[in-house]
Amino acid sequence: MNGVTNGSAVEHNAQLNVPLTPLDSSKLRITLANTLKALPPPEDQVIGKNYTDHMLVVTFDPAKGWSDPEIKPYGPLSIDPACSVLQYGTSCFEGMKAYLGPDGKARLFRPEQNMARLKRSADRLALPSFNELEVLKLLKRLVAIERHWIPALPGHSLYIRPTIIGTRPSIGVSASDHTILYIIMSPTGPYFRTGDEGISLLALGDPARSWPGGIGGHKVGPNYSPGFKSLEQARELGYQQVLWLIGEKISEAGIMNIFAVVKRDDGEYDVITPPLDGTILPGITRQSAIELVSAHPVRTILPGLDDSIRLHLHEQDITMTQLKAWFTEGRLTEIFVTGTAALVGHIGRIGFKGEDIMLTRHEGGGGPVARALYESITAIQEGREVWEDWSVLCE
Ligand SMILES: *Cc1c(COP(=O)(O)O)cnc(C)c1O
Repeated sequence: MNGVTNGSAVEHNAQLNVPLTPLDSSKLRITLANTLKALPPPEDQVIGKNYTDHMLVVTFDPAKGWSDPEIKPYGPLSIDPACSVLQYGTSCFEGMKAYLGPDGKARLFRPEQNMARLKRSADRLALPSFNELEVLKLLKRLVAIERHWIPALPGHSLYIRPTIIGTRPSIGVSASDHTILYIIMSPTGPYFRTGDEGISLLALGDPARSWPGGIGGHKVGPNYSPGFKSLEQARELGYQQVLWLIGEKISEAGIMNIFAVVKRDDGEYDVITPPLDGTILPGITRQSAIELVSAHPVRTILPGLDDSIRLHLHEQDITMTQLKAWFTEGRLTEIFVTGTAALVGHIGRIGFKGEDIMLTRHEGGGGPVARALYESITAIQEGREVWEDWSVLCE
């Protein structure tokens, strides 16, 4: 056994038999930048275009454990050319956002869920373990320091990218016992600026992203780059994203979970999303949409929906044949996607085997369920409404 086991409370260095230092937010060291960057104008608030002044960095070394966490000026990392992430793609990440409330305070949305998922991803890649609540404390400090980077415009926020990379400086093919955990942030506006037409998808039976028995249910780097080629193909054919099929089954769209709304014979609606069978990324927006749809109309009335509208939530497979049948019968009222970046985006068109399924156009954008969820989730994220403990202050 080496020093990087996940089971014991105090991890030990096997050779020296000394306890390894746990990741400890109280040891945070802060070095602020001498000059601060100018905030980008709203049209440049696009995910990944600009980064804030500071980042958080903490490293793991198998001889000592976790280093003192540092918040320091944003800048390049120095890593060995032989290291694990460069050779074998040993990386995992999270996507979250900070929002500004009407009180001017910064808020995170269900952040403990992102931290738990990050820990699961690290474990899946045999990266060193950590106390995720300590990482959350550090993240809150970083957000508090960068609070002025959170755009105050509606639909805008500060995108947060916690990342872990394997930095074992050897080309030997085995677990990386060195890591860097870092967090960077980028101010962002609405992800898809598509207007009424909605997002276009090209359905492809390309198992590059996920397959039964694979690791598609984890947010690990190696799941993403094999899909870039299909994305290029979709874009060349005039579609914005790929609709990933696994055989006949609909999996996800781009890096978003997918929902279909189908009108039933009794006039009520089925809201259907594929189940978490290991091939689907367990999205936090997906889970939130499921909980809100299930709460309507008994525990809450979703914005813009009448309390006479009944929604029945199902986590169930959707095949392309089924989707086309609903479409032909005129029962497919909406398809929408969920994820932190786009939040809730409506699908306008799906290309499949040379034909297009053109979804119903709703005036002013998405259909009623997508719009209700968008309104409801943004209100909770921005602290305009309270729902359970979903919105968390950063102070
Ligand atoms: C991150 C991600 C999602 C969305 O998850 P959220 O927690 O809602 O942001 C969906 N699918 C894939 C493949 C993802 O990587």
